[in-house]
Formats: sequence, structure tokens, C-alpha cells
Amino acid sequence: MLPSFFDSVLQLIVKTSTDLPPDVRAAMKHSLVSETEGTRASQALTIIAQNIDLAADAEGAICQDTGMPTFEVHVPIGANQIWMRQQIREAVREATTRGKLRPNSVDSITGKNSGDNLGPGTPIIHFDQWERDDIEIKLILKGGGCENTNAQYALPVELPHLGRADRTLEGVRKCILHAVWNAQGKGCSPGAVGVCIGGDRTSGYTQAKEQLFRTLDDVNPDARLAELESSIMSTVNNLEIGPMGFGGKVTLIGCKVGALNRLPASFFVSVAYDCWAFRRLGVVLDASTGAIKQWLYRDPSHPIIPMLDQAGFTRTGKEVTLNAPLSENDVRALKVGDVVMISGRMFTGRDAVHSHLMKNAPPVDLNGAVLYHCGPVVVKEGEGWRVTAAGPTTSIREEPYQGEIIKRYGVRAVIGKGGMGAKTLAALKEHGAVYLNAIGGAAQFYARAIQKVDGVSLLEFGTPEAMWHLTVKDFPAIVTMDAHGNSLHKDVEQESGAHLETIGV
Ligand code: SF4
Repeated sequence: MLPSFFDSVLQLIVKTSTDLPPDVRAAMKHSLVSETEGTRASQALTIIAQNIDLAADAEGAICQDTGMPTFEVHVPIGANQIWMRQQIREAVREATTRGKLRPNSVDSITGKNSGDNLGPGTPIIHFDQWERDDIEIKLILKGGGCENTNAQYALPVELPHLGRADRTLEGVRKCILHAVWNAQGKGCSPGAVGVCIGGDRTSGYTQAKEQLFRTLDDVNPDARLAELESSIMSTVNNLEIGPMGFGGKVTLIGCKVGALNRLPASFFVSVAYDCWAFRRLGVVLDASTGAIKQWLYRDPSHPIIPMLDQAGFTRTGKEVTLNAPLSENDVRALKVGDVVMISGRMFTGRDAVHSHLMKNAPPVDLNGAVLYHCGPVVVKEGEGWRVTAAGPTTSIREEPYQGEIIKRYGVRAVIGKGGMGAKTLAALKEHGAVYLNAIGGAAQFYARAIQKVDGVSLLEFGTPEAMWHLTVKDFPAIVTMDAHGNSLHKDVEQESGAHLETIGV
């Protein structure tokens, strides 16, 4: 067999999870200089840039959600695909043990986490034969927040703000614009979209994801699709959704479109949204040893550039210091747009914890608590634990529960990303609480604000879903929903909807 194959795949996984490819770095660097200094958008991008550099330096996960590992493998005729599949699965297991991948494979019926990223359907491995002598492996790690913002349209269709999308390239354009608008900041914008015109429902989504393997700066060989891509890129940033949905000039860093033949009766447009933490890399392996001959996406025409040439996130002096647990007065004094620095105790809680709290008393006192929507990467160290990656997860999933949990247990601040809906906004006002937006994907940045893991409850839900008790110091976040009925997310959605009507027709 190939003695270096396992090590090569492991290197590929570690590099993909911890170091963004040069084309994505270049696009993000361009985003950074496009936003006006001092704005929320610029602050968010500064934290993202700092996070990208920190992750590469420390070889830590760029984002705590290391997503669904998806491998595209090309092999010479006669290669043993069964053996390679086993080796890839073993490399995924090893990368998970080393904390480079978060355990992300959950039994869909019981909710039990397999703990090693292996299970039916995970990881995804596609094999194709080709007539070359080498083996090529490409990997993309696409997280749940952006995966949940994928969209598929069956044309013709009526779209809000855009009217009818017909079975034409103009109709396709409207679908792409709608998908980006609908994602707002929930997929950790600025993002990139892979699009498939046609196919069936299954092949459309697969092809849309495959488009994300193209570099952001390539040009589509089909002139019609190249024009569509460029038309989207030249107009979409006028939506002013901006980084994290905070408003701003940069909403998308790439649009890649492919087409498949379709049945006469069907016309699907499938959109795969990827976040700024656009983790994809590839390697070419020697087919006799499995050793890496070449890295893809990292060739000399794409030099690796550090993201920040100056200090990262710095205080302006206007930040509000909060020491948790919080009082009602603390949070009623805050308003949308305030930047807060939190110190003290914080509890994590995401889907399983919220569902649990609806039927059971909390395992800790949540009166005055700061509840962080986060599924961290945590490694055991002796008798204790260490958080190695801890950015926010998409909050809207907790919308059915959050208001009730605030009311019942006296939670004063909820931290997450992408904002929440009308029910939560009403609960914040009625009971005196705030929603704080942390910067999605900035897992290394926030891990450094965590001083200590004091304990853990509900570990039976698996490490990402457990309730971690953390001591934090100067954890920055932005008030995007306050206790007076204001929501930045609602405002940006309405304003970008109005822009959509102008640019979409
Ligand atoms: S950057 Fe955001 S959307 Fe992307 S994987 Fe991380 S949390 Fe999910």
C-alpha cells in the first residue's frame, strides 16, 4: 500500500482547518480595506483578520465549526479506493483526536455525537478515476451556519423584493441575489456562493458545492456564466448587508456558477453559501508512495500574505465594561451599536441545552447570566479542560426557546451571531436582557478571551453541545438587539430588501 498516504491526508486536514488559502486571504484583505475605519463592519473584519493570523500561527482551528469534511478524490485507473476510503476515515479520526476537527457527526435520530467525526454519511468522500498517474485530493470544510443558508429554487418562482424569476439567466441572477439577501449575516458574511443552474435536486446541490473548489479570482470559461458572475459581484455589495450582517460595503467575496443539463420540466437553481472561513485546500500525491508532490491553491501565483500589518482589534475608549453576572440596570443601559467588553462567568448553550432547559431546571443558576451560543473545541488536559476554539454559532436556531428561557431563568445577555427574531426581541424588552453579536468564526480570537474552564454540565450531549462554565476577560461583542425593542438585524434586513428592489431589476 502507499506508506505516506495517511500522513498526507492528515496534513491536508490540519492545513485546511487552520490556514486559509491565499486566494481567500487576498479577498478578505481587500474586504478589510474596503470598509471605513471605525465602523462596525471594519471592527468585525479586523477581528476576523486577526483570527486568521492567529489560527495559522498556532495551528488552531480557524472556526470552531470545522464543518462537514468533504473530500473530492481523483485516482488513476486501478487504484484501491476501498483502502483509501479507510485511510481517509482514519485520518479524520486522528485530526479529531488532535483537536483540529471538532466532533461534528451526530446520529440524526438519537442526537448522540459519535465523538470522532465518523458515522453514516460522514465524512463525505467522492471518488473519480482519471487518466493521470497522480492522486489528487481536494478537501472543503463547510460549517453548519453557512450550510443552513443554502437555497434551492424551482423556476419560475415569485421572489420577495424581486418579482418573478423566469427560466432565463436573468431569473438565475434574481435567485442568487435573493439567496444572498436571505442569508443576511447568518452564514458569517462576507461569504462566497457556488451556484448550479439545472441538474436535478441532488446533482444541483452537489455541483453548487463543487463550484466552491474554484479559486475566487478565476474566470469562468463559459462567457455567459462569466458575465453572470461578474454582474452579481458588481451589484451584490450594494445590498449593504456587510460583514456579519452589520451593514457595510462587503457582503460577498466570490460567486462561481456552473450548469448541468436538466429535465425539460425542471429548472432548479441551487446555491451553496460558504462563509468567510472558506476552508478548502488540495494536494497531489505520488501514486506509488502517497507522499505530497504539490499543494493546490498555494502555488507561487498565490503567495501567502499575513492579514494584518498593524495591531488587531484595539479599544476606542467607548467600550462598555460588563462584569457578569449582570443586573437588569446593566443591560437596560445598553443600546444597539454599543461595543461591550465582558469579564466574569459565562455559560455556553446551544441546541441541545436550549431544548433541555425547556423541560428541565438548569444545572447552574442562570440568574443574571451571560449565555453564549457556542459549541467550542475543548481538549482534556490532565483533570481539566482547555478551550482551543470558541466562536459563536448561529442564534436563530434557538428562536423558539430563547424568550421563554430568558423569562424563566433570568438570563440577562445572550451572545451569538446572526441575530434573533421577534419573539426574542419582545422578551429582551419585557424581561430586561440584551442580544450581543460576537464575530462569527473568530474562534481563535475568542478562545484567547477565555481564561479558564471552571466546569461542565450536560457533557452527555457531547462536547460541542455541553454547557461549559467559562471565566472570560475582556470578551468583546456588539449590542445588536437591546432591551428597548431595537434590532440592528431587523433594520439591515429591511434596508437591504429595499436595495434589492433597486438592483435586482
Ligand atoms: S465562520 Fe460562521 S458559518 Fe462559517 S463555519 Fe464558522 S460559524 Fe459556521
